[in-house]
Amino acid sequence: MSVISDVIIIGAGSSGSAVAYYLAKKGVKNIVVLEKLGMGSGATGHAAGLIRHHYPDRNLVKMVRYCSQKFIDFKEEMGFNIDYVRNDFCYLTPAGQKGIEDIIEMQRSEGVNVELLTPAQVAHIHPKGEINTDGIGYGLLDHDGGYADPYKVAVGYCERAKQLGVEIKIGVEVLDFVVDSGKVTKVITNKGDFSAGLVINAAGLGASKLNSLLGITLPVKNFSLGHGVLIPDITFEPDILTINDASQEEYLFFLRPESGGTALIGMDQDDPNREFNPDTYYMDVPFNKIGKYYEHIVKRLPFAAGFKLSTAFGALDVKTPDWNPGIGFLEGAPENYYQIVAGSGHSFKLAPVFGKVVAEQILGENQSFDFSVFDINRLSKFSDDDFGGSFFINE
Ligand SMILES: Cc1cc2nc3c(=O)[nH]c(=O)nc-3n(C[C@H](O)[C@H](O)[C@H](O)COP(=O)(O)OP(=O)(O)OC[C@H]3O[C@@H](n4cnc5c(N)ncnc54)[C@H](O)[C@@H]3O)c2cc1C
Repeated sequence: MSVISDVIIIGAGSSGSAVAYYLAKKGVKNIVVLEKLGMGSGATGHAAGLIRHHYPDRNLVKMVRYCSQKFIDFKEEMGFNIDYVRNDFCYLTPAGQKGIEDIIEMQRSEGVNVELLTPAQVAHIHPKGEINTDGIGYGLLDHDGGYADPYKVAVGYCERAKQLGVEIKIGVEVLDFVVDSGKVTKVITNKGDFSAGLVINAAGLGASKLNSLLGITLPVKNFSLGHGVLIPDITFEPDILTINDASQEEYLFFLRPESGGTALIGMDQDDPNREFNPDTYYMDVPFNKIGKYYEHIVKRLPFAAGFKLSTAFGALDVKTPDWNPGIGFLEGAPENYYQIVAGSGHSFKLAPVFGKVVAEQILGENQSFDFSVFDINRLSKFSDDDFGGSFFINE
């Protein structure tokens, strides 16, 4: 059987689902989403769901302002509860880092409610106890932070998209493409062939494999992030502030409240050059590594000394050398093949703006935000030697 539609979206993560919804909302008919596993089953379903405004780039600050309002309004607009919680978000910078005051000024000029705290102020900011401020330059306190359930965001977009006529096909894996006269004319899957005027690759960890079928190679790498759930020995309310400690490069971590009075820790725990194969990776967070982190976390946040580690898990996302995703039509690729790839550890919170601007771009409308920072063609200037740093540079 061959199914003909206007748009095929490969992948029902936060990116593909948001784009399906925004395109359908603009009246595009015959959209089909092909998802091999389940809605939000890729990086999206494992994300910490942090929503905050601390970006050093003005365009990104504008975009996350738009997105965080969309998450606040999600239940009302989409009729779907994403468990959004508003809480403060405090980002700790390393001592001696230059330019922080200018970044804060820029964020304020964009309407972000952010305070610059000295180490002495940081020491007393947590309601559950003192923070050890050794090695900290500043605390950047974002009063408009929050968190939500990324899986529910993907499902919420899909469900609304379905009501607008989008077909979401679960258990359909894209295996190959047929290209004719510079266009993808057929998408071959385990459940038959599909064809469409436009094909969007939003396949997350599966995106590179699909690209390789078309002879496309991008400078991207899979990377692993570790998480752990802690059971506090004290009351830990869901709106307690999130601490994101970026002050020590070898121990980047965050601690945020999680449902049921628990706490979630996240760690950037791996050698930046390690390669991960998504087909063999299994939630790989060695407990001894977590132990090392835990010691550091307790040093920074002594009140966490009695918290018990109940679960640890890791998950993969895809990164680019400048830690921003690649979005758009790639020069030299089939002309009807669009990509939203390499979430780079921070693309869940950008899903609403991806949906909005990608739909505008595809329909040839004026773009509400400047997307040059994500332009997929910028990636041609990078090579494998340009990888480094951490996803926390954008956190
Ligand atoms: C541990 C962790 C924590 C994170 N925390 C945050 C955070 O706090 N805040 C934030 O903003 N971001 C965070 N991120 C990043 C964020 O999760 C990702 O950047 C974002 O969710 C990527 O979404 P996506 O839709 O592009 O890809 P994915 O969510 O990976 O979705 C791709 C989908 O495509 C499907 N697929 C793949 N291949 C095929 C195929 N051949 N055929 C059909 N379907 C296919 C997959 O099954 C999957 O469902 C985190 C990531 C990780 C791993």
